[in-house]
Amino acid sequence: MKVLVTGGAGYIGSTVVAELIREGDSVVVFDNLYQGHKGAVHPEATFIKGDLNDRAAIDSVLADYQPEAIMHFASHTLVGESMENPFLYLAENVTNGLNLLQSAVDHGIRKFIFSSTANLFDDPERMPIDEKERIVPGSPYGESKYIIERMLYWLDRVYGFRYAALRYFNACGAGAPERGEDHYPEYHLIPIVLQVALEQREKVFIFGNDYDTPDGTCVRDYIHVLDLAQAHILALRALDQGSRTYNLGNGQGFSVKEVIETAREVTGHPIPAEIGPRRPGDPATLIASSDKIRRELGWEPKYTDLKGIIETAWQWHSTHPNGYNDR
Ligand code: UDP
Repeated sequence: MKVLVTGGAGYIGSTVVAELIREGDSVVVFDNLYQGHKGAVHPEATFIKGDLNDRAAIDSVLADYQPEAIMHFASHTLVGESMENPFLYLAENVTNGLNLLQSAVDHGIRKFIFSSTANLFDDPERMPIDEKERIVPGSPYGESKYIIERMLYWLDRVYGFRYAALRYFNACGAGAPERGEDHYPEYHLIPIVLQVALEQREKVFIFGNDYDTPDGTCVRDYIHVLDLAQAHILALRALDQGSRTYNLGNGQGFSVKEVIETAREVTGHPIPAEIGPRRPGDPATLIASSDKIRRELGWEPKYTDLKGIIETAWQWHSTHPNGYNDR
């Protein structure tokens, strides 16, 4: 299948691109390199540098390459940033997604995979969180993803647009020795902890230890990026049978303290940690139920233990201490 991947130079997008190519699909990456890295793009993918705020650029790529499906990863993705600068999310994420969707409909494309988020569940009534949980976006970031989910719903009703909305919990790990996480600045727990092990930071701050959790620190569901990639590919192949929405996690929660302790084991570094204040917008516990995608598509995450996940991340960070070396 020919697939256009927006954000295909980013952490998750570039891993999915590599997996698609491994399965024999042909891929066009559309990315503005704002957070992405040219070096992350698989050499067999066609790379187009472009911005989703440029409708003419999208039209021209879709007309030139005529992909059968689109995977849309490109977006601003930080909860904290969205609380400080909501229009980056409520305006840019939404209008960029809208540009892409309008162009897709105009060019007869009817298959779409969308990166959504666990930030739709700020106040869950049940844990683990399944797809029937009520939607309470936790930030303008989550809201921007939900607005696009709603657009997809209507495009299915009106145009028979087939989509999968995949709500990621905490993506982590490295996809292969040559591809991993490289954000600047870095805000995510596992890469920050590994930067301490590389002595690029002095210590890690634990954002609060007075949560209602077993050890007082926040509990998250860490899902390996290769397991995420498989979910995207299974969802893509299933679109002919209809649109769908899935929560994606490995179904287990690990606390911030457990992550730090496991990273100490994996790296052999003491990784100093200090308790700091809570980070605004962080719920105590987020654990996904992924029963639906397991049942419907036979998805089975391979990386379920924290040590294995952190080992793959450490392989990447220890061999690429400056990431893709393009800053
Ligand atoms: N966290 C932390 N210190 C850090 C970064 C993150 O204690 O320097 C915590 C954060 O409060 C959350 C968990 O680690 O409970 C995972 O945060 P991350 O930013 O990696 O992902 P998020 O849960 O926001 O998607």
